[in-house]
Amino acid sequence: MAKEKGWKDVPMAGLIVEPGNSVEYKTGSWRSYRPVWHPENCIHCLFCFYYCPDSAITVKDGKMTGINYDFCKGCGICVTECPTKPEKPALELKLESEFIE
Ligand code: SF4
Ligand code: SF4
Repeated sequence: MAKEKGWKDVPMAGLIVEPGNSVEYKTGSWRSYRPVWHPENCIHCLFCFYYCPDSAITVKDGKMTGINYDFCKGCGICVTECPTKPEKPALELKLESEFIE
């Protein structure tokens, strides 16, 4: 019968990272779609801010100021939840490839 491995024989499964370091791991490069903000149509309801799972919507003094593309993964939730009219959207989802120079 083969001898069982001890804990020292088990290879490291992955990179061990420090807790609380999410700001160092920019996830924007995962994006296939990009939300584009049209401030002229924004009513500053902040639905996008509350729904964004990555806290990528920036706000100052109770008003939306933009999208932090370092952390936006392009899930499109903000675009779905934005209550502005389709003919005058404050947020639109576009293909990320449209922004590659
Ligand atoms: S697309 Fe998703 S991750 Fe990006 S700002 Fe909108 S809700 Fe946040
Ligand atoms: S959900 Fe739409 S209207 Fe509301 S703050 Fe965000 S972009 Fe502006």
